[in-house]
Amino acid sequence: MKRKILCFFLAAMMLMSVGCEKVGEIFGGKPLQLISLNLSRGELTPEFSSDVFDYTVEVPNDCESIDLFPQVGKDINMNIDAPKKLSVGQNMITISLSKENSDETVTYHINARRLASDNCELSGLSIGDIELTPEFSADNLEYTLEVGNSVESLDIDATAVEPDAEIKIEGADGLELGENTVTVSVTSPSKLYSKQYTIAVTKIDDTPWWMKEIEKGNDKFLAITFDDGPSRHTRKLLDILDKNEIKATFFVVGERLNTYSDILKDEYERGHEVANHSWDHSYMRVAWSDDEKWENINKCNEAIREIIGVTPTTFRPPGGIWIKSVRQFHDMNVVYWDVDPEDWKYRDTDTVVRNIMNKYGNRKIILLHDLYETSVDAAAIVIPRLKDKGYQFVTVDEMLQIREYYRLLEEQQEQQAQQEQQAQQEQQESSRNEE
Ligand code: ZN
Repeated sequence: MKRKILCFFLAAMMLMSVGCEKVGEIFGGKPLQLISLNLSRGELTPEFSSDVFDYTVEVPNDCESIDLFPQVGKDINMNIDAPKKLSVGQNMITISLSKENSDETVTYHINARRLASDNCELSGLSIGDIELTPEFSADNLEYTLEVGNSVESLDIDATAVEPDAEIKIEGADGLELGENTVTVSVTSPSKLYSKQYTIAVTKIDDTPWWMKEIEKGNDKFLAITFDDGPSRHTRKLLDILDKNEIKATFFVVGERLNTYSDILKDEYERGHEVANHSWDHSYMRVAWSDDEKWENINKCNEAIREIIGVTPTTFRPPGGIWIKSVRQFHDMNVVYWDVDPEDWKYRDTDTVVRNIMNKYGNRKIILLHDLYETSVDAAAIVIPRLKDKGYQFVTVDEMLQIREYYRLLEEQQEQQAQQEQQAQQEQQESSRNEE
């Protein structure tokens, strides 16, 4: 802005200074040359004398034109060839003088070099799929980002308003746990200006607790689940779970939440997994269409969401009646069980305990029902016993992740074994050939 005002001010001064009409008359008879030459950027004569025909002037990027104020003597014709608008880089202005009835001509060259843009702002900035501009504009130079444990470097894509501006990204690689600062610096092509954009990256340790246990060598996991509730016995069970410091999974029946919404809230707030066991415990037989099934399941999801604000990710079909190969339905994991002590049938604590202790095993899911006090009492007995045997209790959601972890691990080990076998075979064949 200042520069433009100066531009204008100088132009005004020059106009005033060339107001003398006598100038032409005085120099009229002199040789073919400019008497004076002023630019809006400054006066050139006498420096710009007849001996100096070439002159270079540098103008900043925001100056798009130069005003010329040349003075010539009487009877001298002047032709000015100048671009209307200066472009970034070199611009040639030519002033040619000639006399009538004479072949004599004189040419003055002014090379006006308009400096490259001073703009040092970003036009685009993104981290992976996160588009930061225009939100992360010049007015908002700081951005905060949280990443997980596995993120080691950020994929930053930055573009500047000026294509020739220099962009430097620092700190995007080798992220460490805790606070990291990533800076994107932009230097204008003229190198006169630069701007720094800061991204505060906090890397949090999001390794699941069970993964840390596996790394420590503690790899015995069990999930305990309670179906058909909530009921008037569920609070007693919640206290038992707290006392044992474990988390369980509750497959709740939607319509029961009309009566037991407070208990559902309690289950969730105490850190247990809340899962879906249909709206009304209907057996979803093959005759049911997918739409009918989903309508029933989703009604339960909505009831849960209304109470705890979270939508379950896991569904267990009532009675286990479902096509067993289906493990995924409308983004929900369909989960069954591995250990069924038939607590609903026996309603006897000792029998239920015995049945569980006969069938438990690593990475198994135990089925119980918090509808019956006998089942709740059985839980109070089996949980500490299983803990004594080195088992750690996880939710069903965690169990699915653990199973997936081991599935991938086994896959990897199988591949490795195959490769080793193949290598061994090849070695045997080559040694046989040598014989
Ligand atoms: Zn059930």
